[in-house]
Amino acid sequence: MVKALSDTYLTFKTIFTGMGITFRHLFTKSVTVQYPLQRDVLPERVRLKLHVNIDDCIGCRLCERACPVECIDIGTIKSTDDDDLGETSTGHKKKLWVDKFDIDMAKCCYCELCVHPCPTDCITMVEEYEYSTYDRNDLIFPFSDMTPEQIEEANRKLEEEAEAKRRKKEEAMLAKKKKAEAQAAGGEAEGDKPKDAASGGSAETSGGGDKEKAARRAEREARRAARRAEREAKKKSEE
Ligand code: SF4
Ligand code: SF4
Repeated sequence: MVKALSDTYLTFKTIFTGMGITFRHLFTKSVTVQYPLQRDVLPERVRLKLHVNIDDCIGCRLCERACPVECIDIGTIKSTDDDDLGETSTGHKKKLWVDKFDIDMAKCCYCELCVHPCPTDCITMVEEYEYSTYDRNDLIFPFSDMTPEQIEEANRKLEEEAEAKRRKKEEAMLAKKKKAEAQAAGGEAEGDKPKDAASGGSAETSGGGDKEKAARRAEREARRAARRAEREAKKKSEE
């Protein structure tokens, strides 16, 4: 009996406590926002979603490297010499095609570390939060605006340019090699001359050269003997 009375008292007490709170709130200002008809004013520098102005992206990948959870995936293709990709709004020359720029917002921890290193200020946090989805893959946001055909064309041009440069380099090397060979051959020919002369000279020295010397020596001896005989004859005639 005592327990039944206690339970009844507790029941009424909790009912009146709850109703009292409800009744009190009837006279306080409502804080409920009638979303989506009403929207709260968001705080300054709120971090809700990343956005990339791909026209200003130079493909430097600084944001990708800064991301601690690796949720940015960037792909670039080098432009060829005849491509003019223009400049960003900050005056940076664009040299790379950005064929892939995906941000996985499911992984993003909203640290904003990717935003600050960007040299062209093209990656920013924006006030967008209505992107809930049933599939995680839908939270990977692609920002590159290149079509598969454009990517293929850019790759093809780059390969062709690389091939042309490689061929040109090979030709230049070949020409250089030929020139070096020609110079070496010329040098050898010139170098051979004194050798030949030396060998000829030695031949002469060993053969004809020795004979010539001996002949000249004999001639000198003969002249000396003649002069001596002449002097003696002159002396005798004077005596
Ligand atoms: S906000 Fe942080 S986690 Fe998100 S993409 Fe940028 S660096 Fe990565
Ligand atoms: S840091 Fe900026 S310019 Fe460099 S790849 Fe990222 S978004 Fe593009």
